[in-house]
Amino acid sequence: MNFDQFRTPGEGIEKLKHLIAKTADRDITIMEVCGTHTMALFRHGIRDMIPTGIKLLSGPGCPVCVTENSVIDKMIWLAGQSDVIVATFGDMLRVPGSYSSLNLQKANGANVQVVYSPLLALELAKKHPDKKVVFIAVGFETTIPAIAVALKSAKQRGINNFFVLCAHKTVPIALEAIAGMDNNVDGLLLPGHVSSIIGANAYRFLAEQYSLPGVIAGFEPLDLLKAIYMIVDMITSSKIAIVNAYERVVSDTGNIKAQQVIAQVFEPCDASWRGMGTIAGSGLKLNEDYVAFDIESIMRIDIAPPIEPAGCLCGQILCGTKTPPDCAHFASKCVPENPVGPCMVSTEGTCAAYYKYRNIGGSDS
Ligand code: SF4
Repeated sequence: MNFDQFRTPGEGIEKLKHLIAKTADRDITIMEVCGTHTMALFRHGIRDMIPTGIKLLSGPGCPVCVTENSVIDKMIWLAGQSDVIVATFGDMLRVPGSYSSLNLQKANGANVQVVYSPLLALELAKKHPDKKVVFIAVGFETTIPAIAVALKSAKQRGINNFFVLCAHKTVPIALEAIAGMDNNVDGLLLPGHVSSIIGANAYRFLAEQYSLPGVIAGFEPLDLLKAIYMIVDMITSSKIAIVNAYERVVSDTGNIKAQQVIAQVFEPCDASWRGMGTIAGSGLKLNEDYVAFDIESIMRIDIAPPIEPAGCLCGQILCGTKTPPDCAHFASKCVPENPVGPCMVSTEGTCAAYYKYRNIGGSDS
């Protein structure tokens, strides 16, 4: 199919809506893996443009949301140490851990600094040689190269008071776990940003081994509708594949330089995901050349056993087995100003998206 005909927004949208409706001959469930896609689908009203038989489920693509409470409790413990400055992206501040949050610790006098890049955390370390500056290293393949660059710079410059609390996760192996779950997912809307680093080839196994089709998509209305149409078309015609519909940004092999810098600093490890438990090989830890920058290599972080917020369904929502309206706390006890679980905190969180757009349709799908 020549997609040039869909370039004119108004006309293209109508054509794609028509094609989707014509092609969807049965109920189909599509998981949007990426939290940015979740928000974009709501923002552009895409949920209201597609037949009701096409269900869109959010997946494990919000890095803040999939970070387990034990990691959040470790950050909070670190913030309580007098010789530590915790440096973090702002989205981790309000995430509730088992007993507190970084925000509460900061209000109580803990030295928690919001930074906009890992290199700024490194500069903080240079400015405070008497403190251990610990950067909270949470995120997927999109974020990891910048942290690798900061660590390489720390090593080259001999800045020995810069550390990371490492909780990185990688997307393809988590999708393999999703493919094996009982969640009725028929196809995947694959992330744009992560794919720009790892490339389309990283997902081919999902079609080949699990018969799960997927389309890598951008974030504009035409991108999203085109990808949904392609997924529906593959399912109804039984031609299962991984398709890159975001070629203006994503290649088959991804960003090789970024992959190389990750490989110079990190190596695969098992990782624990909220809701999914431990998935072998789905995380990254510092390799032997950089392990000295792992705060856990020099400090024993002594936390109480983590506990989950009572009644919070974030774990099931991230696996696609529940949606936010299934949670008794949604929009009552749990709101963005007073979140009970991480999916209500993050700007990429599924509960935050459902809450933000709850009065303008589409939030019950
Ligand atoms: S609404 Fe709140 S408590 Fe319920 S699943 Fe979402 S974040 Fe958790």
